[in-house]
Amino acid sequence: MAYAYDNQNIFAKILRGEIPNSTVLETEHCLAFRDIAPAAPDHILVIPKGAYVNFDHFGNEASDAELLDFSRTVARIARDTGAAPDAGGQGYRLIANTGRHGVQDVPHFHIHLIAGRQLGRMIQNENGEKS
Ligand code: AMP
Repeated sequence: MAYAYDNQNIFAKILRGEIPNSTVLETEHCLAFRDIAPAAPDHILVIPKGAYVNFDHFGNEASDAELLDFSRTVARIARDTGAAPDAGGQGYRLIANTGRHGVQDVPHFHIHLIAGRQLGRMIQNENGEKS
């Protein structure tokens, strides 16, 4: 199975420095930056620097070092935003939209970390109704 990566996607351009971003944290293998249309007071996108389309691409093909760095980066941001429950925070949600049914807009793997307000229950259909 070959994954097709479009190197003109907006996150690829961010990684190349072609368009600006609001960086929260940069590590050897990851970049975390604020979502341009935040759904909550803290809405941070964590992306690998490698050219991965989605979670299964990343999970199947990334190196151990990339996988480890990604997990640690997400966890560190959960702590640094103050959202992590074990650090006294009120919690957060992680989302990895994937493909058409998952309503993925940007075809570079990313996790949304959303925090800072009470969220609703999880799944809505395309009309915004619970499904
Ligand atoms: P998804 O539907 O999971 O692919 O979400 C893509 C996310 O990228 C959306 O929440 C957008 O608001 C966000 N986004 C798009 N362009 C930018 C940008 N230039 N900087 C930061 N976030 C962006």
